[in-house]
This record gives sequence, structure tokens and C-alpha cells, in this order.
Amino acid sequence: ARIKNALVDQSLLGGVGNAYSDEILHTAKISPFATGRSIPEGQLRVLYDAMRTVLTDAVERSVGQDAARLKGEKRSGMRVHARTGLPCPVCGDTVREVAFAEKSFQYCATCQTGGKVLADRRMSRLLK
Ligand SMILES: [Zn+2]
Repeated sequence: ARIKNALVDQSLLGGVGNAYSDEILHTAKISPFATGRSIPEGQLRVLYDAMRTVLTDAVERSVGQDAARLKGEKRSGMRVHARTGLPCPVCGDTVREVAFAEKSFQYCATCQTGGKVLADRRMSRLLK
């Protein structure tokens, strides 16, 4: 399975949704289109560490916040998620988006795909 889909699969791993899976993959510098099997052993460790860092950080930032502020607080810590068109805080490249029927995800090409821009069906449909 694609790693992005595996991360949000609640039967494999509970609690990680679309936003934090974008953040975890960006922190680990892994392409959202990578498949579980294509990730080398060493990178799995990096992915695990990224998961811990991103989620621990998110929990720490939300401690003491009331419910009304939580959403803004969550967003302020994001590096790629919901930041299409803005600069990546790590390398300065533009954060890009891939959209599906009812979902979309954001990633940084320089950090995560070796500079390769992933196909966005919505975009290619517009170009036809
Ligand atoms: Zn970047």
C-alpha cells in the first residue's frame, strides 16, 4: 500500500489523519506515493522517529489550549499540510498539492521526492 494510505488506515495505526500524515512524511522526507515495500529498512526507523516527533510536538502544543483555540494551534505547527503555494519552512521550495476526488494532500518536492513533481489528476484534467 502507499505509505500515505497506510498511515491514515485506522486499522493499522489509530489516530493519525490526513493532516499529521502529511507532516510525518515531510519530516521523514518520504514521498507520499512511496509504497511500504519501497521504503528501505533504515528509512523505516526515520519514519518511526518522525511519527513520534510530529505527534509529541502536536500534543505539547495543545496542552493548556482551550477547544476553540486548538484548531488554530494545530494549523500553526504545520509545515506542509494546508500550506499549498507557501514556502516549505525547511528548504524554501513551494509546497505542492495532489488532489483526489474528495481528498488532497500537500508535500514538498525538494524534501520528499528528490524534486519530482507528483501527478495531480485535477491538474492534468485541466490541461487536457
Ligand atoms: Zn522542503
